Amino acid sequence: MSARLTVCHECDALLQEVPQAEGGGNAICPRCGAGLYRLGPDKLQVLLALSLSALILLLLSNLFPVVGLNIQGHQVETTVFGAAGQLWRDDMPVVAGLLLATTVLIPLIEMLALAWMLLPLCLGRRPPAFVLLFRGLRLAQPWAMVEVFILGVLVSLVKLSHLADVLPGTAIWCFGALMLVLAVLSSLLDHRVLWRAWEAAR
Ligand SMILES: [Zn+2]
Repeated sequence: MSARLTVCHECDALLQEVPQAEGGGNAICPRCGAGLYRLGPDKLQVLLALSLSALILLLLSNLFPVVGLNIQGHQVETTVFGAAGQLWRDDMPVVAGLLLATTVLIPLIEMLALAWMLLPLCLGRRPPAFVLLFRGLRLAQPWAMVEVFILGVLVSLVKLSHLADVLPGTAIWCFGALMLVLAVLSSLLDHRVLWRAWEAAR
């Protein structure tokens, strides 16, 4: 088997990869000390479970209301789609579009693409359109901003709390859990793992 080569993304040193160790840890560039990649067994099933959990949480986050307000006995609730609709009616179509794209559409496409790639790979098969989806995933990643949305909602809740009774909806908890799952997923997801699994699959 030919030696695998890797390039340090910081100093462009061409290095020979060390074999995957059982114990884990990180491979470090000997010239500049930059972290190169994660060592240890590939956890495709864990990644698949996380991406499916993210899909379920994303679905729940959009079905239930994010927040409710109780203003002198008059109660109003809104979902993400409701908020986007209101923004649209208030002549802010760009903001409405950005809200839907960054909190619903792009995370949804990202998680579907990941599940589409991981499910066959876990079964030892090569998923169709792998290269195309892989490129799409890399392009989409910077645009998924669930955490920015959560932060925005929390800031507005605090600001509104002295005007009305603020009732956090089910979706805000789902969004919180989704944010955690996405954070764990992105810390575990090494693209080299996907390529390695693709090479080993038939
Ligand atoms: Zn380096």
